[in-house]
Amino acid sequence: MTEIFTGSFTQQEPIPDEAIAAAVEVMQHGRLHRYNVADGEAGEVTLLEEEFAAQIGAPYALAVASGGYALATALRAVGVKPNDKVLTNAFTLAPVPGAIAAVGAQPIYVGVTEALTLDLDDLEGQLSVTGYPRVLMLSHMRGHLCDMDRLMAICDAAGVIVIEDCAHTMGARWDGVLSGRLGAVGCYSCQTYKHVNSGEGGILVTSDPEIAARAIMLSGSYMLYSRHRAAPSPEVFERIKYETPNISGRMDNLRAAILRPQLRDLTAQVDRWNERYRQIEAGLHDTPGLKLIDRSEKEYYVGSSIQFLLLDWRAEKIDAVLSRCAGRGVELKWFGAPEPVAFTSRYDSWRYADAPAMPASDRILQGIIDMRVPLTFSLEDCAQIARIIRAEVAAVFQAGDT
Ligand SMILES: *Cc1c(COP(=O)(O)O)cnc(C)c1O
Repeated sequence: MTEIFTGSFTQQEPIPDEAIAAAVEVMQHGRLHRYNVADGEAGEVTLLEEEFAAQIGAPYALAVASGGYALATALRAVGVKPNDKVLTNAFTLAPVPGAIAAVGAQPIYVGVTEALTLDLDDLEGQLSVTGYPRVLMLSHMRGHLCDMDRLMAICDAAGVIVIEDCAHTMGARWDGVLSGRLGAVGCYSCQTYKHVNSGEGGILVTSDPEIAARAIMLSGSYMLYSRHRAAPSPEVFERIKYETPNISGRMDNLRAAILRPQLRDLTAQVDRWNERYRQIEAGLHDTPGLKLIDRSEKEYYVGSSIQFLLLDWRAEKIDAVLSRCAGRGVELKWFGAPEPVAFTSRYDSWRYADAPAMPASDRILQGIIDMRVPLTFSLEDCAQIARIIRAEVAAVFQAGDT
């Protein structure tokens, strides 16, 4: 019997009832703009920021329109100017170099390792050349955390400011520290495919009062910044308020209302993702020709997607695996496809910026297979998906000539 998986790889869970009720309440009173509050009312966005700051252990938090907007705001708030160079991952999603381009700066790509993390030797090499960038936008792409101890030591020694892209690591930890708290700024996405779902949305956190004040002004606070709670004191705003432009990108109370109950559930949701991830990973263990991704003991990840490598396979053979799996209902994405498809672009697809060839990274990128793990999958679904991938990879591999 040939098993076929019939679930959907893009179906998220429904919004929790409590979040729906909170959203209805906001619509009933009609005060959707974050600064439109009744006497004595904080507003959903302000409460979201206050709660998220406490949850992440950061003094300051700001909710904005998207994760990509949070990244660009972080770049502006740390002082990146047009034509500056900003280091970032060769393996990430398009909004990351896009945020760098949005501020008129230039991405300089750092390679990727077989652990799918930033190549720290390459980073050191790039930093040893003169005139190196002052900022690293570090993308924890697909939830893989690099050796953050070594990364922070390298960046601190070189005076490089780290902005963390935590779109796939909301709730993850490195050596016990929540992702987003080791760099100067942590940026999260609340877009439907991430760890909480408001359709669109982003949050940034920082411990630096000046970065926080600039980010709040940048997001479009007008002179209403004192209504924020997870914010520095008014004196800090006094110093920067005339020199910081309003680049409107606020979050609204409706989105914040549906996010607050979801954030309260985050830890439980992370456990559910990881059960599913481990089920698939266990099912793929020792599949001939397939390399699972090593993860550090210090990494507490969120398994909202899973990757594996078909390293040094020929393109036709990878295509064969993808189409055989697709024929059995399993949607795999391939970062090595000659043309970018859906979300799978990479450094050499972003042709608005010069990118020297990166042969060592190309070898890895060409083998990366990626799969979403929505929480609507049951553990049995995960086991079945792993059986299908295992059978199809093994069949193509054993036919030879990969
Ligand atoms: C989704 C995503 C972003 C951007 O988030 P949006 O909320 O969609 O703007 C940034 N980085 C990575 C790695 C992402 O996956």
